[in-house]
Amino acid sequence: MKMPLECPFCSGPMINDFAHVTGVQQKRCDKQITHNVQLIARKGDNDTVNIIRIRLGPYRTIEWNLGNQICAVTYVKYPVKKTVDLLPFFMPDLTDYNSLMEKVNTYLLFL
Ligand SMILES: [Zn+2]
Repeated sequence: MKMPLECPFCSGPMINDFAHVTGVQQKRCDKQITHNVQLIARKGDNDTVNIIRIRLGPYRTIEWNLGNQICAVTYVKYPVKKTVDLLPFFMPDLTDYNSLMEKVNTYLLFL
């Protein structure tokens, strides 16, 4: 998947996001009211999206690492330590946010 100009969920503009890591381009949907999606691609890698990150709530994030085929849910809330749970990897369908969240929530029930 190439880094899109528009959000795959809502067709809103994808705007540049500050990347903590050099050598990557990071974009997020500008309309973060119902969904908070961030796409990350390595620079010089033909703009191929390598990481898809969606915030599930104030402290929880799900991230798909497409290259390594890892799907992980991270929970961070001070003073609780960061916890990471691995889910069975699946390719996220970015065309329908609600059905993707239903699928994710089903997996989360079994953590
Ligand atoms: Zn969007």
